[in-house]
Amino acid sequence: MVMTSQEIRRKFIGYFKSRGHKEIPSASLLPEHDPTALFTAAGMHPLVPYLMGENHPAGKRLCNIQKCLRTDDIDEVGDRTHNTFFEMLGYWSLGDYWKKESIKMSWEFFTEIMGLDPRKISVTVFKGDKNIPGDSESAEIWEKEIGLPKNKIYFLPMKENFWGPVGQTGPCGPCTEIFYETDLPKCGEKCNPSCGCGKYIEIGNNVFMEYEKKLKVHKAENRKVIKSKIGEDQELYEYEYVALKQKNVDVGLGFERLVMVKQGKSNVFGTDLFQPIIDRIKSLEIENSGLSEEQKNKSEKIIADHLRAASFVMGDDRGVGPSNVDQGYVVRKLIRRAIRYGRILGISGIFTFKVAEVVIENYKSAYPELERNKDFIVEQLVKEEEKFGETLKRGLKEFENLKSKIENLASKTISGMEAFNLYQTYGFPIEMIRELAEENGLKVDEEEFEKEFGKHRELSRTASGGKFKGGLADAKEETVKLHTAAHLLLESLRRVLGDHIYQKGSNITAERLRFDFSHPKKLTDGEKQKIEDLVNEQIRKKLPVNCEEMNLEEAKKLGATGVFESKYGEKVKVYTIGEGDNVFSREICGGPHVQNTSELGEFKIKKEQSSSAGVRRIKAILR
Ligand code: ATP
Ligand code: MG
Repeated sequence: MVMTSQEIRRKFIGYFKSRGHKEIPSASLLPEHDPTALFTAAGMHPLVPYLMGENHPAGKRLCNIQKCLRTDDIDEVGDRTHNTFFEMLGYWSLGDYWKKESIKMSWEFFTEIMGLDPRKISVTVFKGDKNIPGDSESAEIWEKEIGLPKNKIYFLPMKENFWGPVGQTGPCGPCTEIFYETDLPKCGEKCNPSCGCGKYIEIGNNVFMEYEKKLKVHKAENRKVIKSKIGEDQELYEYEYVALKQKNVDVGLGFERLVMVKQGKSNVFGTDLFQPIIDRIKSLEIENSGLSEEQKNKSEKIIADHLRAASFVMGDDRGVGPSNVDQGYVVRKLIRRAIRYGRILGISGIFTFKVAEVVIENYKSAYPELERNKDFIVEQLVKEEEKFGETLKRGLKEFENLKSKIENLASKTISGMEAFNLYQTYGFPIEMIRELAEENGLKVDEEEFEKEFGKHRELSRTASGGKFKGGLADAKEETVKLHTAAHLLLESLRRVLGDHIYQKGSNITAERLRFDFSHPKKLTDGEKQKIEDLVNEQIRKKLPVNCEEMNLEEAKKLGATGVFESKYGEKVKVYTIGEGDNVFSREICGGPHVQNTSELGEFKIKKEQSSSAGVRRIKAILR
């Protein structure tokens, strides 16, 4: 008998509960307390404050199944193992047990509870680099305690087997990843878990947070100098790794992949998590589409993946429908790409909601919120498809015209203007334009597209004012203002107290702003006054607030502060307050923000106190 996915969920939770872990619910797919990321990308993501030392009300051993979404993996969808949305089985020790217990539990769960073949398991461990020793402790546990043959233990560098920190400084440590062998042949003599050929699939990762990456020497240079050396920010700092007092273990197992190997399938779409969805799509296709099996399979997988992901984002209790901003834009891209692949398969009429209904049916016992929000999901899909179905047809025609024109050009490149026209007039997301171009052997001038896009955004923002706030659930005007105030506050803290200041957390309600930052001692009344004055000065200067999207490297080059964690993988948004010579602050942030600091009123610090060791907390209001 094949073990169902629901049974695997139950066994996972059952086993870790029997080992003293408390089950905590999946957090929302849309992060509540982290404005720097659009989606929850890992089980540990909502737990960051507790991994940083805050006490978790449920104790020191936790487990759960977390809804995750990684837009970075969209392009991988269709391979054997990557999904946009996926579930992560997670378990944690917050300063409780350590490497041995954790590795033993992962092993026992996979081989005894799940009954996977131990001979097919290999692992990777951190081999060390010039600043940090290799993780021989884990290697020894795998070899001596578990009995894994030496040739199944691979030593890999920092890039592969070291996690964190989530930012410039903070908790981090080596990890040991667990791989399962598939039936594919080895890609060559050097085939190994990190070669990426598909022979080995990563089914889990144990992260051992045992170090704190700290600022070591701050080469004294004032802020002005740093600013004039844009791009060299990093070199002004030196870091060191010191042992953490509270050591944590963070383990994440890939649910879809586990179900895949447990059910003996060659890819995640063959599991009972996807089969009913794929079947529904097949039932909608026309029979003689003339497509190859490969083309059909790829299209079916993309539709299944994208509509499952979109349903989960819309079906979250903090969920959002398709729009042009933030999470809503991701939903829009997912739905539109699914629609295009639907047309390729020859599906006629409005169909996305029919697929979503199967997603909801298949998942509602594990995620009742999907059923609760079913009407919203269906309604949004129908609306989006009505809107896009027609323009898609016309846009594709326009694309064909372009193609016949461009094919004869030496550059074979769609200009930024032409691409922008496809976006603007026909609603084609840039990724779709890129994909169409690739399929037809063409290129797109994306740089010029971005410029056009930027120009247009400025115009439409001035025209439509408040619309910009669309994407967030809690976008009351007051919280938006306090979001912007938080940026002013962070920069003011840095200018008054120094560059050692990093944001350690923030929590904003319509009434007040709570802001945690790294600083060793209580602020004096004079310092508080200076900070308050500096913030209010920026408000009086009526500085514009502008947003640009870019990749992490570009953001760093501009000297933007914020959470630099590429693992979460979003293209980042950078909010700049002020312009020209008058730039006051530049931060990576999800927004939303006011358009001009003059909207804020007056900033007032109500309280300054200790939050935890080395971290201070400010409560402030606008009035
Ligand atoms: P990969 O290298 O395969 O992309 P990863 O290193 O990004 O995986 P982690 O960030 O360590 O993965 O996440 C923990 C586990 O979650 C992985 O071991 C894997 O089983 C699973 N996982 C990661 N990304 C995906 C995805 N896009 N779809 C399905 N499962 C995933
Ligand atoms: Mg990955």
